[in-house]
Amino acid sequence: RPRPLVAGNWKMNGLKSSAKVLTEIHAGYTPGLKAKVELAVCPPATLLSLFAYASVGSRVAIGGQDCHAKESGAFTGNLSAEMLADAGATYVIVGHSERREYHKERDIDVCAKAVAAHRAGLTAIVCVGETREEREAGKTLAVVRKQLRGSIPVDSNSHNLVVAYEPVWAIGTGLTPTVADVAEVHALIRDELRRLVGKSEAPKVRILYGGSVKPSNAAELMAVDNVNGALVGGASLVAADFLAIAGAY
Ligand code: 13P
Repeated sequence: RPRPLVAGNWKMNGLKSSAKVLTEIHAGYTPGLKAKVELAVCPPATLLSLFAYASVGSRVAIGGQDCHAKESGAFTGNLSAEMLADAGATYVIVGHSERREYHKERDIDVCAKAVAAHRAGLTAIVCVGETREEREAGKTLAVVRKQLRGSIPVDSNSHNLVVAYEPVWAIGTGLTPTVADVAEVHALIRDELRRLVGKSEAPKVRILYGGSVKPSNAAELMAVDNVNGALVGGASLVAADFLAIAGAY
């Protein structure tokens, strides 16, 4: 079984004053917890350097929330994977549903970003997940399968790839799928990974669940087969909640 990863996606939240949340996370990341679970915090890009410097010695990894596919160039407002790595990131989230929705990112774009992440030496956290309409239409497995095949680059392995299953309707809503539904989708992802990264790497790739993960439901969700951690939004902004979720392992 791979070492679980609990990653906090801060989205567009956090100012320099939020460094105190990171300090609290460091303080609560005890040797006992370190032995069980890897932690990562993905703050807004403005805080990456600050958080990376502050986390030296703590073993809390730092990640970006998106990257451009190109290494550099005339792309006003964008950040390359190399820039994130230079700032101290070791992870980058790509294909989050909020990027797919508000920035019209398609699987092919997400794949190019994951390739860029690998080029820069980052681990890509590739997000997939169905909308409420797709679930109600019984299309969940087909949608997730298509996203995986389109978004995961061929050079992926268990070191440079993490997959996050985030049902869009569960993000920020307080709603979560049943454990049976989570198990079904994560089993499909594991199966697809065998095709995409090969039989020896597939079992070692971390598959995270994301969407309304809280201290109260973390133990139940993390106990599901093929759930190797969590991608946490809102609850990751509160150190005690983030640590409690990690402690559910
Ligand atoms: P919430 O935990 O706030 O539902 O967000 C999940 C998410 O989108 C993490 O990437």
